[in-house]
Amino acid sequence: MNSKIIPYGRQTISEADIEAVVSVLKSDFLTQGPTIPIFEEKFSEYIGSNYSVAVSNGTAALHLCAMALGVNNKSRVITTPLTFAASANCIRYCGGEVFFVDIDPNTFLLDINKVRALLEKHPKGYFQGIIPVDFAGNTIDLEAFRKLADEFGCWIIEDACHAPGGYFIDSKNKKQKCGNSIFADLAIFSFHPVKHIATGEGGMITTNNKEFYEKLILLRTHGIVKEQNKYKNNFDDIAQGGWYYEMQELGYNYRLTDFQAALGISQLTRADKNLERRKTLAKRYDTAFSNSKIIKPPSFEGNAYHLYVIQITNRLDLYNHLRENNIFPQVHYVPVHLMPYYQQLGHKKGDYPMVEAYYEKCLSIPMYPSLSNEEQEHVIQTILKF
Ligand SMILES: *Cc1c(COP(=O)(O)O)cnc(C)c1O
Repeated sequence: MNSKIIPYGRQTISEADIEAVVSVLKSDFLTQGPTIPIFEEKFSEYIGSNYSVAVSNGTAALHLCAMALGVNNKSRVITTPLTFAASANCIRYCGGEVFFVDIDPNTFLLDINKVRALLEKHPKGYFQGIIPVDFAGNTIDLEAFRKLADEFGCWIIEDACHAPGGYFIDSKNKKQKCGNSIFADLAIFSFHPVKHIATGEGGMITTNNKEFYEKLILLRTHGIVKEQNKYKNNFDDIAQGGWYYEMQELGYNYRLTDFQAALGISQLTRADKNLERRKTLAKRYDTAFSNSKIIKPPSFEGNAYHLYVIQITNRLDLYNHLRENNIFPQVHYVPVHLMPYYQQLGHKKGDYPMVEAYYEKCLSIPMYPSLSNEEQEHVIQTILKF
């Protein structure tokens, strides 16, 4: 067992997944075809949104959301520095300016009081949007963010990449599933192999807004329209036949393939079971570390446990110790504002002390459904002996 590498996260592929992909490979469709709308419908059912739009990856999902919301070079958008860079980059793709707000060190999530303080420093309308992230699977209270966003005329994109199946409890004591877009305008997911549902590369946007949905469908395929009743051109000189199509907007090729969608559908059937396994693993870690110096992540029922992040003072030594024992932990994340690209835009060390203090100590230890009890025990013992 000790010779096998135990990563911090990995995909779980079943025989049924393989069969689902092979059956599409034997069909007439490789790129976007009839399997895409099936995946979208099943995903909406799982998440509880009216609409889903499958795209080529989570970053493309963020980009299309920013476009659908009209982000441009006058836009100012707030997000957390504790996320994958893509959450901020989507604003830059559209020319907008990114404003980071520090995290609440107890939840790792965007600190709503600090967001309010920033919003209140400027006239209403100065900021256009907020992108909260359900970091590590720890779910954000979007009801509170919606109230705040409405006060200041902002939209919300929920980056729910870490939290499919996770939920928070709203003020009426109701479970609100991540990405259901009841409080957010749009939400996005990624199907990268370390995420809960894997399609290789892949992403999904969820929304309850029909206008956004139609816009996203258009932007996903070059802004091209093929339905005759939607044409804007009106030729009286050249007769147009079935070949005709119109590009009405500057869109992209952000399509998902049909065989990836087949993998996604098959993976989705095990999503609840896999989430339960993540919760069981988290409880076992919680118990194992209860009498140690290790700071544990927030523990609550709606946590989707994409990551299990511990905090420890001698992080580098523990990291090296685990690597020597074939356990490959990871650090999530190097704060986005410290990336040279963002520093060059004016952000600097010292700007967000909470996330910087967190970054000195955080370590993501193995958390994925196929991690066996024996493997987890080996991880726990290796950490505790250190
Ligand atoms: C993975 C991830 C993304 C980007 O998804 P890709 O599919 O890799 O493009 C964006 N935001 C967060 C929080 C992520 O974890």
